[in-house]
Amino acid sequence: MRNVLVIGAGGVGSATAHKCAQHNDELGDICIASRTVAKCERIVESVRARDNLRTSEGKLSAAGLDAKDTQAVAELIERSNTSIVLNAGSPHCNLAVIEACLRTGAHYLDTAIYEKEGDFNMPVPWYANYEWKYRDRFAASGVTGILGIGFDPGAVNAFCAYVKKHLIDDIDSIDIMDVNAGDHGQFFATNFDPEVNLREILEDVVYWENGEWARVPCHSKSRTYDFPVVGAQKVYSMGHDELHSLAVNIPAKRIEFWMGFSDSYINVFNVLNRLGLLSGEPVDVEGVPVVPLKLLKAVLPDPASLAPGYTGKVCIGCLVKGRSAGKNRELFIYSSCDHAECYADVGAQAISYTTAVPLVSAALLIARNEWNVGKLVNVEELDPDPFMAIMPELGIDWKVREA
Ligand code: NDP
Repeated sequence: MRNVLVIGAGGVGSATAHKCAQHNDELGDICIASRTVAKCERIVESVRARDNLRTSEGKLSAAGLDAKDTQAVAELIERSNTSIVLNAGSPHCNLAVIEACLRTGAHYLDTAIYEKEGDFNMPVPWYANYEWKYRDRFAASGVTGILGIGFDPGAVNAFCAYVKKHLIDDIDSIDIMDVNAGDHGQFFATNFDPEVNLREILEDVVYWENGEWARVPCHSKSRTYDFPVVGAQKVYSMGHDELHSLAVNIPAKRIEFWMGFSDSYINVFNVLNRLGLLSGEPVDVEGVPVVPLKLLKAVLPDPASLAPGYTGKVCIGCLVKGRSAGKNRELFIYSSCDHAECYADVGAQAISYTTAVPLVSAALLIARNEWNVGKLVNVEELDPDPFMAIMPELGIDWKVREA
C-alpha cells in the first residue's frame, strides 16, 4: 500500500498533511488537493519549513481540485497513485469523493457527515440518509471506508467501543462532552468551517433516549460539568454526527452530545440568528441573490488563521455510566490538548489538531492492515485497541477518570 491524498487545505487539511509527513515512511507520497491550489502550496512550504517530513524520499505535492467532481477526484487518485484518501475538505464534497474511491479502489476516510447544501434538521439517524447506502458497494469491492474519524466524531466513538470492550459491560448512559477553554483573541470566530459549524449549532438538538430519538430546540438544555484539566464548564446539549451511529452500534439508554459555549458566544450567536444572518436561504440584495450564512463566512476569521497566538486547552471525552460485574461504575474517558503545543508541532490550533491526529492514525492503521476491513464502517465498529495505542504516538494521549 502506498501514497495518500489529503483533500482540503483548511486548518484540518493542513494539520493532516503535517501529520502524514511525520509518518511518510509508512504513508508514502503525499498529495494535498483543494479548490484553492495556493493554499495547498503554502501547506507544502510549511511542512518543509517545519522539517516535518520523516523521510526526504517521499514526495510532497499540491494540486487544485474541485472535490465535488467525481471524475476529477478519480483522475487525481490515479495520477498520484493514491491508496488512501483522507477527506478533510468540506462535507459537501463527501459523496463525490466516496464515488471516486469506489471507482478507483482507494480507501476512504472522512471527519464529518455528508451534507447537501441546504439540508437542515434531516431525518434520523443521519448516516442512513446518505453514507450507509454505500455499504454494499464498499463490501463488494473490498474497499475500506471509515466514516467520521476526527475527534468528535471519531476518537470519542473509539472511546465508547473501548469502554464497552474493557470497562463497562452494561452501559446506561454516554455523555460526549467537548469544551474548548482556549482564547483566540477574536470577537467572534468558529474553530472550523463557519458554514458547517453554525448550521449544526442552529439545528434542533437530537439525542438518543429510551430507545428513541428525543428533540429539543438549540441551546435549551445545559449543565455544568467539572472537567479534568479545564475545570468546571457549562455545556449545552447539541445534535452531533456520532450519536447517529453510536445509538445503533452501542446499546445504551441515553446517548447525548454536549458542547461548551461562553455566554458571549451565545449572545453573538443569538443576535446573528435573530437578524437572519445564519440562514442558508438566499436573500435578494439589489438584484443579487446572497446566502446570509455564506456572507457571514466571508467576513468571519478563517479558522486556520486563528492558530498563531491561540492559548489555552481543549478537553473532549465521554462520561459513561453503567455496571460491570453487577457493580455501578462511572468514568470519564478523555483527551486534552494545548493550542500552543499543537501550533508548535504542526502550525494548527487544537481543534484542527484533534481532528487530524485520529484521521492520520486511522490511515496508518489501514496501511498496517489493522483497520483495513474492506467495508464501510463507523469507528465504534472497529477494534478500538490499535487506535488507543497509536493515537498517543501521534501526539494525543488519553486518560480514564473514575468517579
Ligand atoms: P475549512 O473551512 O478551513 O477548510 C475546508 C477546506 O475544504 C478548504 O480548504 C476548502 O477549499 C475545501 N473545499 C471546499 N469545497 C471544496 C471543493 N468543492 N473542492 C475542493 N476543496 C473544497 O475547514 P476545516 O479545515 O477547519 O475543517 C474541515 C472539515 O473538518 C470541517 O468542515 C468539519 O466538518 C470537519 N471537522 C471535523 C471535526 C471532528 O472532530 N470530527 C472537528 C473539526 C472539523 P479552499 O481551498 O478553496 O479554501
